[in-house]
Amino acid sequence: MNAAQALRHALLSEIGVDHGFGLRGFAELADLRRPRQVHGVAVATAEQCAEQGRAPEADAVISAEVGVRIAVVTADCLPILLAGDRGRAVAAIHAGWRGLAGGVIGAGLTALRERLGKSEGVTAVIGPHIGKCCYEVDGPVLGALAVRFSDVLPRALRQTRPGHAQLDLGLLAREALRAAGVAGERIGLLEGACTACDAERFYSYRRDGPETGRLVHFISAGRPNAEG
Ligand SMILES: [Zn+2]
Repeated sequence: MNAAQALRHALLSEIGVDHGFGLRGFAELADLRRPRQVHGVAVATAEQCAEQGRAPEADAVISAEVGVRIAVVTADCLPILLAGDRGRAVAAIHAGWRGLAGGVIGAGLTALRERLGKSEGVTAVIGPHIGKCCYEVDGPVLGALAVRFSDVLPRALRQTRPGHAQLDLGLLAREALRAAGVAGERIGLLEGACTACDAERFYSYRRDGPETGRLVHFISAGRPNAEG
């Protein structure tokens, strides 16, 4: 793997957490722990994902194993990497509209918090995903999201043609993180990273179809040099 082919974010770097949002061509490490993603809301542990080919079905994975990289893969959906502010436990979440509607972000955060100290805050960064510019959805998708996001959904939409709207997945993810108790200033977003607009850097299911590659996003627990 070429470490240069991953994007990092200052909010996670400043707490000393090893992480990266993969770009096109970023080869997957053999020892990444990742679940079999199914657009659901289940949470797996790094331990459960240890055996290649026998990982559980889940769309969030958590770890407190120092130096063990957990990961999710995406091609338009949201990758979200999270860490406790002391870096001792981390999570990776995959969320498309189904995961958002089902509450996978809250489920991942609940599981992460169980591994953290009582007063420990959480830092979360939303990675490259299909932007509002390129993501038109229809009534059934909006109906599913309206249940959980009734207050914020209008702000996340731009009406296009009858029964359709462009949807800002990142805004919904930010609201889900805030609703689950993550402080606004501890939520980061990689700007200007629409997977469908930028074919040089990203894979995109909507642009390239099901045969497109998958972007690999990883994070690992542990701050060997840190105090506290
Ligand atoms: Zn776009």
